[in-house]
Amino acid sequence: MRYTEEMQNDTIFGKIIRGEIPATKVYEDDQFLAFLDINPVTKGHTLLMPKEHFVWVQDVPDELLGSIFIKAKSLIESLKKATSCDLVEVVIQGKDVPHFHIHLIPGFINHQNAVWEHVSYSEGEKEFLAEKIKSAL
Ligand code: AMP
Repeated sequence: MRYTEEMQNDTIFGKIIRGEIPATKVYEDDQFLAFLDINPVTKGHTLLMPKEHFVWVQDVPDELLGSIFIKAKSLIESLKKATSCDLVEVVIQGKDVPHFHIHLIPGFINHQNAVWEHVSYSEGEKEFLAEKIKSAL
């Protein structure tokens, strides 16, 4: 499936950035937003994106791309503290939402996840974890 122009112009992440629909945010500034993935591969699975709309990584201006990876570094550290994971997988996929974003997925050395399986949060767990990530920043 290719993204149509309409899909590219009005994405679910654009709606979250504009505050039209909710998300469990873990970081926000003028340029970037990070929130927990609604269908996490592991607990703490975070999506980091520029507020400005670009579809693909190769569309993002170099300076902004550098800045988002610097921001990713600090989020990786806070995810490690908040989830006690061994590592954080950094993935750019882009199969579902045509607004460039980076997946930050807490990972464990002995957990071989060939395909992305998914986990669920219990009541209140998502919000609790988001606070923990924020306070580790
Ligand atoms: P991809 O475009 O392939 O990088 O995947 C998009 C990701 O966005 C998937 O992991 C979805 O679970 C996630 N996602 C889609 N809608 C939402 C939403 N409303 N809030 C949080 N995450 C979302």
